[in-house]
Amino acid sequence: MQNRYEQASMKADYNIILKTVKGFLDPEEGLRIYNISLNASQMGPCMEIGSYCGKSAIYIGAACKENNAVLFSIDHHRGSEEQQPGEGYFDPELFDHRIFKVNTFEIFRKTLEMAGLEQTVVPMICASEAAARMWKTPLALVFIDGGHSYEAACTDYQCWAKHIMSGGYLLIHDIFPDPEKGGQAPRHIYELALSSGLFEELSMTKTLGVLRRNLTPSPSPKRRGESAGQYL
Ligand code: MG
Repeated sequence: MQNRYEQASMKADYNIILKTVKGFLDPEEGLRIYNISLNASQMGPCMEIGSYCGKSAIYIGAACKENNAVLFSIDHHRGSEEQQPGEGYFDPELFDHRIFKVNTFEIFRKTLEMAGLEQTVVPMICASEAAARMWKTPLALVFIDGGHSYEAACTDYQCWAKHIMSGGYLLIHDIFPDPEKGGQAPRHIYELALSSGLFEELSMTKTLGVLRRNLTPSPSPKRRGESAGQYL
């Protein structure tokens, strides 16, 4: 799986649609996510935090569809902090002048329709914390790619990492070892997950961190006097 020449490739139709969908996912990262999702979706449902316009939903959803599984995709669709007017990642095309707010839901829905994933991807239009409040279903994959502030990233991690089943995957996007190249919140939660002793570190693809929940249910926290649960 980690050798890109051994990766399964996606159907041509998806690749055509992917070229038209806005997003920040590199194709090599997307292909890695697709391959991991092919494996994960044989074990259970997948979850992504941060749908945006649906690029990553195509990669994960296409894999889920092959296994008759489901991807839950959470986003309030009002844009994260850095996507608001005046911020670095603001896109005027995604600003809805009728409501004077960023609105990515209509485009996300159109992406699912174009990709034929409406029966595979379940949109959850709310804050990640609200979706997590009563959540009980074990997840085979959690992809964290929501807000990039420390508060948002830590909330997503605390809400969802604990639901990953044994052998399931935690994927974190936008990990930059060099602070000059990008915000450090994703790297912070990646390190929290590693410190918990609950995850095995697999190779990264560009800025995509890949962790796998241990098969043995015996966490060994790395810091003395702290339980693994504190990191989740
Ligand atoms: Mg991202």
